[in-house]
Amino acid sequence: MPFEVDQKKEGVVISARIHPGESNASWMMKGVIDFLVSSDPAASELRDKFVFKIIPMLNPDGVINGNYRCSLAGCDLNRRWKYPSETLHPTVWHTKKLITKLAQERPLALYCDIHGHSRRKNAFFYGNGSPTEPNAARVFPFLMSKLAQPHYSYDYSRFNTNRTKEQTARIAVWRDLGSKHSNIYTMEASFCGPKPVKFEPHRGKAKAPTAQELNYHFNTQDYLELGQNLCKTLAVYRTASETTMGIQNIEYQIEQYHIEKEAKLEQEDLIR
Ligand SMILES: [Zn+2]
Repeated sequence: MPFEVDQKKEGVVISARIHPGESNASWMMKGVIDFLVSSDPAASELRDKFVFKIIPMLNPDGVINGNYRCSLAGCDLNRRWKYPSETLHPTVWHTKKLITKLAQERPLALYCDIHGHSRRKNAFFYGNGSPTEPNAARVFPFLMSKLAQPHYSYDYSRFNTNRTKEQTARIAVWRDLGSKHSNIYTMEASFCGPKPVKFEPHRGKAKAPTAQELNYHFNTQDYLELGQNLCKTLAVYRTASETTMGIQNIEYQIEQYHIEKEAKLEQEDLIR
């Protein structure tokens, strides 16, 4: 590929397994990698438009030693992103350098750190809420809701910068790069299964969950598909971002969704 063309590509970083016990994150990462190297036209387009930096395992010593959350040094590495030590937290230190360098070379379109969640259901995102552009970080998760039903939930996603999470990849990298980088996320998938939510966008008329939906447990195929859908969402996002109107239109849909959700909740309160 000629150098000039490569220079126009945006950067994407996807990482996983900083928490060694969250083995479902590796299935999602496998879904990402399998899709990106596939002959699917969307994958080919993604390879043309982006430079991908994939870090499948941020905590290999923790994984090898069977730790649940810590590295061999006994550190929760996802609480070390603000001031990582090159000696004690080398994977975090080097990944931070890699992301900073990539963001200096080209626009960073997405950084997503993949996790498994032991308590909450569904797959969902944690994103950062910018006071000036409150909907910017919601666009990508909102688009994913169109593609990854019924296992993923936009309504379950949260957008905040809780002080206890300041040392996570999501917040520390966002603070380093500046709030204009709205697409920096933790992507989570439940260790358990989906939980149908009432107000999920793109899910049509809200129905009571079936017994089958309530008892369903995610399997490896579901995790692979979630990884695949992360990539497909990136392709849809890229197409939308080719025009300013494309993203503005999605932000408008998000606003409408939240207005309608609030109205329905108020109505329910009045009925009660
Ligand atoms: Zn985790």
